[in-house]
Amino acid sequence: MPQVYAYACDDERSLFHRITIDLREPAPKEIYFEVMYAGICHSDIHTARGEWGPVAYPLVPGHELVGIVAAVGSEVTKFKVGDKVGVGCMFASCKECEYCTAGEEQFCNNPHAYFTYGVDAEGKSTTGGYSQGFTVREDFALRIPEEIPFHTAAPLLCAGITTYSPLKFWGAGPDTKVAVLGMGGLGHMAVQIASAMGAQVHVISHTRSKEKDGKRLGASYYHASGEAGTLEALRSTFDLIICTVSANDLDYGAYLDTLKPHGAFVDVGLPEAPARINLSKIILGNKILAGSNIGGIEETQEMLDFCAEHSIHPVVEMIGGEDITEAYNKVTASQVRYHYVIDTSTFNDKPAA
Ligand SMILES: [Zn+2]
Ligand SMILES: [Zn+2]
Repeated sequence: MPQVYAYACDDERSLFHRITIDLREPAPKEIYFEVMYAGICHSDIHTARGEWGPVAYPLVPGHELVGIVAAVGSEVTKFKVGDKVGVGCMFASCKECEYCTAGEEQFCNNPHAYFTYGVDAEGKSTTGGYSQGFTVREDFALRIPEEIPFHTAAPLLCAGITTYSPLKFWGAGPDTKVAVLGMGGLGHMAVQIASAMGAQVHVISHTRSKEKDGKRLGASYYHASGEAGTLEALRSTFDLIICTVSANDLDYGAYLDTLKPHGAFVDVGLPEAPARINLSKIILGNKILAGSNIGGIEETQEMLDFCAEHSIHPVVEMIGGEDITEAYNKVTASQVRYHYVIDTSTFNDKPAA
């Protein structure tokens, strides 16, 4: 049984320290890979801090992980030792229900999809990507294209698919105007992907502090919502808004006013508090208020290939295992540009006392 180092926290203070974990040998249809890089997603932080419900500690989070296949089960056909692979938000589902067969495993209802750290079908706690190894069914592993610099690939597996899927579904492309709300881990991916799809991209951020980056990544316009009159001047402008912010006090009505009739406002930011929306803002312009939850396995592979073809890379800051605790605080303080990626080779270093 492979035994590897991982980083775990023991309670909602989310203080990370190194532990040793046992992973299972791959079953006939599974692969085992050595995790090299793992992204830190904001949802890891919500989970680790108990903000989304009770957690079984010690918790090893991480659902954006990439590495090299080190062992394959006897019936594996998609991968061989040495391949570059990744795992995103899900590691299993039934693959037989109407949603799984439609390529939307995230909506599996038989009984549900299994998310990368949590519990498995037997009710056992599972570990995630802040680990030097991972065993997974081959049909939930993604192929990482050579063109994508490997240390930047991990965030695509959550932030990439979370933004790609709604942009594609709602028709971002030539002759569309897309607004990206928020210029963080998700927003900076949405800007690049929407721009590669051919849309005219606008960023709406509270301040102009990231304007240079936004324009470099593909935005044609950058608006500061903190400046008076900004949203009023954008009335009936956009075909599509991708909202990546999770602020509890977002003025939905003001943003819905910036949509053209029939336009769609798609939320991927997941605020904690229920939103209050005046429905006249939707009804009077036949507007759509929608949500979007990651994407299926096939679509995730399509997104990876799209990013390879269009040279889309997450902008990352590399950190070691001992930096995770501090990184969490910086993410919640919006001080990361734009996504932390953990280099798991640092796990071999002696942890600080
Ligand atoms: Zn995520
Ligand atoms: Zn299913």
